[in-house]
Amino acid sequence: MLDQIWKAVKGWYDLLYPQLCLCCLEEQKAGKQTVFCVKCHSAFPFTNHFQVEDNGMMQHFYGRVKVERAAALMHFSEGGLVQQMLHTLKYKGMYQIGSNLGQMAADRMLESGFSKGMDAVIAVPMHAAKQQQRGYNQSEVIAEKLAEGINVPLIKDQLVKIKTTTTQTKKGRLERLENIKDSFIWKKNGDQQPNHVLLVDDVATTGATLEACIAAMQGAGIPKISVFTIAMAE
Ligand SMILES: [Zn+2]
Repeated sequence: MLDQIWKAVKGWYDLLYPQLCLCCLEEQKAGKQTVFCVKCHSAFPFTNHFQVEDNGMMQHFYGRVKVERAAALMHFSEGGLVQQMLHTLKYKGMYQIGSNLGQMAADRMLESGFSKGMDAVIAVPMHAAKQQQRGYNQSEVIAEKLAEGINVPLIKDQLVKIKTTTTQTKKGRLERLENIKDSFIWKKNGDQQPNHVLLVDDVATTGATLEACIAAMQGAGIPKISVFTIAMAE
């Protein structure tokens, strides 16, 4: 029912307002079916991570934590296109950005075999209080569509953030690691444990948050963990 109402509302909205590119937010030519304009799409700094197993994202974790596979969809640069787009997703509630990027990633995973053997998708969680304040977790928006696309269940509420952490943006890697260490726990759900988890986040800068999540899951006995983020800083 809600779905039908949403569709009806959206139909009217599309008539009244022209479609905007979800990246630059500029008006797209009528009849455009894609959510990103040609200019943005051709400027997306895609990585080669799905083609190269020993890629930059994978190297990120060497000597720190064991991961099976790792990939980012795009490169991240300060003030760049990707940062702007992820910012709109994170703070302005534009879920379609997350859904479309999730779908884009799913297509590449299926094509490359990246998601083979995975049996659970998990988004890096936010602290419950913070999520309530913002209304959604942007990583979960991405993970939801991604999970659907690769046909693997999305597990919510088992990886939990138990500590609120101060903002990470102005900290170095070690400082971030110290700040976020022990912030996550894995809650067991009976005897059922996933065997190979795909951990999803919007952006990896130092990788400290991902490392803390991986440590919590490995500590709980999950044998295989892979990582995917939309963007990765070099
Ligand atoms: Zn655009």
